[in-house]
This record gives sequence, C-alpha cells and structure tokens, in this order.
Amino acid sequence: MNRYATEVLESLKRKYPWEEEFIQSVTEVVGSLSEVLDQNPNYKKNAILERLVEPDRTISFKVPWRDNQGNVQINNGYRVEFNNVLGPYKGGLRFHASVTLSTLKFLGFEQIFKNSLTGLLLGGGKGGSDFNPRNRTDGEIENFCQSFMMEMFRHLGPNKDVPAGDVGVGGREIGYLFGAYRRLKGSFDGVLTGKGAGWGGSILRPEATGYGATYFLKEMMDTRKDSIDGKTVAVSGFGNVCWGVVKKVNELGGRVVTLSGPDGYIYDPEGIRGEKVDYLLDMRISGRDQVADYANKFKVEFRRGKRPWEVKCDVAMPCAIQNEMDEHDAANLIKNGTKYIVEGANLPLTLGAMKKVAEAGIMYAPGKASNAGGVACSGFEMSQDALFTKWSGAQVDEALKNVMKNIHTQCYEASKEFNRPNDYVFGANVAGFRRVANAMLDQGIN
Ligand code: GLU
Repeated sequence: MNRYATEVLESLKRKYPWEEEFIQSVTEVVGSLSEVLDQNPNYKKNAILERLVEPDRTISFKVPWRDNQGNVQINNGYRVEFNNVLGPYKGGLRFHASVTLSTLKFLGFEQIFKNSLTGLLLGGGKGGSDFNPRNRTDGEIENFCQSFMMEMFRHLGPNKDVPAGDVGVGGREIGYLFGAYRRLKGSFDGVLTGKGAGWGGSILRPEATGYGATYFLKEMMDTRKDSIDGKTVAVSGFGNVCWGVVKKVNELGGRVVTLSGPDGYIYDPEGIRGEKVDYLLDMRISGRDQVADYANKFKVEFRRGKRPWEVKCDVAMPCAIQNEMDEHDAANLIKNGTKYIVEGANLPLTLGAMKKVAEAGIMYAPGKASNAGGVACSGFEMSQDALFTKWSGAQVDEALKNVMKNIHTQCYEASKEFNRPNDYVFGANVAGFRRVANAMLDQGIN
C-alpha cells in the first residue's frame, strides 16, 4: 500500500481501535488507492484521506419509548453525517440490535463512495438505532419511530440530510418517521426517501436495490457473453433487497433457490416464484424474523443455523448483512463452481472471503457498486419531490438501468486504466473516490 494511505490507516487504528467494522471498510477502500494517490500528489497535500475518514459530525441521542406492557424502554439513536461535498447527506437508517456507532461509521463511509458512483448529487451518511424490531407490534414500532424523530427532525432537511430505509426500516417505519417529522416541523418536505407511492415516494423504490443489483449482474455477464437465463442463483436474506433480486432474476429467466434468516436458510430447488415471492413480504411484516416459516408453508428443506453458501449455484447474491460470507463460505462456492458474486448487502464478504474470491478469479461486484440502485432511486425520489412531480414506472426503471450501466462502466474502465481488468473492487473504489476527492479539492479546506 502507498505510504500515505498506510499512515492514515495506522493512525485511524490507533485512534479508534474498537471500531472494527469501520476500520475494515477503510482498509478495504484505501487498499485500492495507492496508484491514484501516487498519481495526484494534491490528494496528500490537501489531506484528502484524513478528511474523508472523519465524519463531518456524529449525532448521538437517546430514544425513550413505552412498550405494550407499559414499561419505558431506552435505545440509542445515531446519525453519522459523513461527507456532503456531492450533495445532501444521504443514506439509510438501520434498526437492528447489532447497531453501534462503529457499524454506522462503516456504513456511512461506504455510502460516500456508493453515492458518488451513482453520478447523482448525493452526499454520504447513515443512521439508526440498536432498537430490535423483532416481535414488536405496529403500535410499539410507531412509538419508537416517533421518539426517534423527536430528536432527529432538527438535523434533517431536503438539502441537508435525507435518510431512508435499511435493515429493519421499510415502508411502514418510513411512514411513521415521516408523519412525526411533518408534524414536528410543520412542513411537508422531501426529507425521507422510500415514502409511500401515494405521498411523495417514487414508484419502484422498494424494488430498486434488488433490481439494480440484478442489472449490475447482467452488465458483468454481458462482458463475458453470458446471461442470467437458466442460471441458478443463491440469495441470502428475505427482506427488501432479496425480494427485488428474486423478482428481477425470475423475469430474466434465472432461478433463485435459497433465502435465509437469523434462524438458517431454506433450499427450494424449484425456484422461488409466484405466490412464494409475495410470501416474502408477509414474512417481513410478521416481524418474526425467521425463514423457517417459508419452509413450513411450502414444504421445502430448512437447514437450521446454516448459511446458503453451501448449495451449488452459478451466482451468489448476499443480500442480508455485513460479514455474512467468510473464507470458509467462499471456499465452498469456489468448490461448487460459482462464477459470479454480486453483493446486495453492504460489505457482506469478510476481507478474507474477498481475498479468496479474487484469487479464484470469480467475477465479484462489491456492494458500493452493485447495490447502489436503491440510493440512486432515492435520488430520483428527491428530484420528484423537489419538483412536486411524479415519474412513471417505466421512466424510473429506465433511469435505474442507466445508472447501473454507468456504474458498471466506471468500475470496468477504472480497473482497465490501472491494469487490473475485471477487478470491480478496485474499479469501484477508485472511481468512487476520485469524484469525491476532486470535489473536495475544488471546494477548499472545510
Ligand atoms: N440503505 C440503502 C443503502 O445502503 C439506501 C440508502 C438510501 O436510499 O438513502 O444504500
């Protein structure tokens, strides 16, 4: 690694040794930047890396709320406003028991480069809470969201900071959050994306991340004159991203054979089609957070406590959570002849898994490129809200395809430019970094 990058990384490790996930994501990005940093000494001269790895600000607050038993519960809420040189802070809210400031710093850092790759005017941020929505009623979710917004609203604005959904935050939560914001602020602003299609949301936003990841897969396959038609796809998760992937893969002639949850995974060799696809939505709404229900309903195999990466598949699409595929899983996929790995989640591969996959020559798309369709569609939603207008589904889909095609081209070209053909990790990091870094140079020290 270039000396400057090494120094910045080492100093970060000394400063935040407990922020493991954040250090992991910075290591992953700066590991690709040696040549670019060598090529342009202005980056070092202007301390671009030091400024990039430190969020503009971190907002941390308590979220007290009352549960159905009448008990007062206290959770932690956060918003990490990382970088806004390319537009308002933009990125989802994650409600999950595992959420810490380190998780959100890592996700916010990734978001800067992802949003940069979309080519839209989107800065990077992320927020959320350690609130666990599992087995909570609608009323409890509403209480929690209202309390969360009681603090959050003062930091938001359509040109300032625009959160969206992420793990544990879907259309229902966005509804409660938006209602609370609108009342507290006394203003109807396009301040959250993923809103209901009838009140400022964009058509196709729920599908966009999964559709976008599948479009990215298609672009990658095109470079090898290959196609999704007839391919077997293993997917993890059962939420929004997974649902979009299943729908689009089906449409393009592929077959998705797995889904997973915290309890294990299901194997459905016939493929997840028809009413089974709709059942994904029922599972999410049930709040039970388990895929065993699918196995019971459709009489397919359920493998408790296991991950789907042991099945034979042409394509693997991790769509659940960070670090859900380790070296051992990667070795299994390689052994089974998997040719493509496309990330629907953020950083689902451990650094060890990434190394193994690269050595095996698998075509591998990192989430900051392949799952950018969601935030891109959020960008379209912001444009529609700003003009009080609404695009048709066809218009959104066309724009989404273009963005994904363009992200693929940027990754492909950047990897070629530095003689690393087909290294999409390298390409995504370099292309994402250059746009942000150059904007920072243009805008002076701030
Ligand atoms: N949470 C999604 C992501 O990781 C979407 C963010 C957004 O739409 O702002 O990119």
